[in-house]
Amino acid sequence: MAVADRLAPFGVTIFSEMSALALELDAINLGQGFPNWDGAGFVKDAAARSLAEGGHDQYPPSQGVLALREAIAARYGPLLGRELDPAGEVTVTCGCTEALAASFLGLIDPGDEVILIEPFYDAYPVFVSMTGAVPRFLTLRPPGFEVDLERLRSLFSSRTRAIVLNNPNNPTGRVFTDEELSAIAALCLEHDVIAITDEVYEEMVYEGEHRRLATYDGMWERTLTLSSLGKTFSLTGWKLGWSIAPASLTAGVRAAHQFLTFTTPTPVQHGAIAAMGAPKTFYEELRSTYLEKRDLLADGLESVGFDVHRPQGTYFMMAGFERFGFDDDRSFCRYLAEKTRVVAIPPSVFYHRAEDGSKLIRFAFCKDDHLLTEALVRMTALT
Ligand code: PMP
Ligand code: GLN
Repeated sequence: MAVADRLAPFGVTIFSEMSALALELDAINLGQGFPNWDGAGFVKDAAARSLAEGGHDQYPPSQGVLALREAIAARYGPLLGRELDPAGEVTVTCGCTEALAASFLGLIDPGDEVILIEPFYDAYPVFVSMTGAVPRFLTLRPPGFEVDLERLRSLFSSRTRAIVLNNPNNPTGRVFTDEELSAIAALCLEHDVIAITDEVYEEMVYEGEHRRLATYDGMWERTLTLSSLGKTFSLTGWKLGWSIAPASLTAGVRAAHQFLTFTTPTPVQHGAIAAMGAPKTFYEELRSTYLEKRDLLADGLESVGFDVHRPQGTYFMMAGFERFGFDDDRSFCRYLAEKTRVVAIPPSVFYHRAEDGSKLIRFAFCKDDHLLTEALVRMTALT
């Protein structure tokens, strides 16, 4: 294999591995997080109109179509409590993934330390490695997955350049509290650290409240707020994301973005303009639909015998499988897939020491009720 040293340790993503297993076994895929329905119609219509009317086939500006940057600024200004400048503070990217990559590559130097909260989204340590930075890990532990503030404090030093915060959190389902966010903000200020916040599950909050780190005192100047269309509008395949940050940090994001992808497909950007205009009811319906699905799956898994960690946010759920006599998540996921033809994700890959995550598995509930119910019926074979 000719893979470079900085990428070789990461292998193939767990999402590709488990989705391939689901196809091979003709199993129900509660692993990789994508809905099994089509995306929001009004967004698709807007993208289709932009294709039909012509004039949108060539490169848009690298930082994104101006009307989309204006629409993002109009939507997020009130959420971030400030007027946003579409010219200097908003950048359109290929999904949140590219916004993350551009933040790392554009703002972090080799040797800088970056604090990652684990379990982490699997791309974060890869970006740390691509950048040549040094990861420092804060582990969230079940049952509550709270931030250990003492431990967090001990990770900050003069070498720390950034902390990455995924809130609401995949895979734990945590929605971080005001106390946790205030403590993170205070440490960032004290040590002159930037925060890269990944908020792709911002509209899926069932308990607590989604608080944005960028709104804490002194934090706007040092925070990148990243998100995308994928989860909120059920358009994971469109890969349309954005970064919102002060001009100084945006300069770093754009410095990398212009050479990573340069820009994002024009028709998709026109669809996203419509998405930014979604009425309040759209978000309310999204939340209530997912809340029902969360409880459908959680109640069902409990009756099968799983020890369920009911998530406060996201469309993921962690569950303990001790009752079934397995020691580690990978072998249990394999057994589950082969015995019941239901695929889940072994979350040990989201920890730098696999053993810290080997006692739980992750289910996604972004699936229609029929499929969730069928998966639960199949899993009764475990008992
Ligand atoms: N961050 C987190 C926490 C995710 O779970 C995901 C994937 N679904 C992403 C980022 C990637 O988002 P996108 O598909 O917009 O690149
Ligand atoms: N974010 C999705 C998940 O956690 C997967 C994204 C991907 O496949 N890269 O399931």
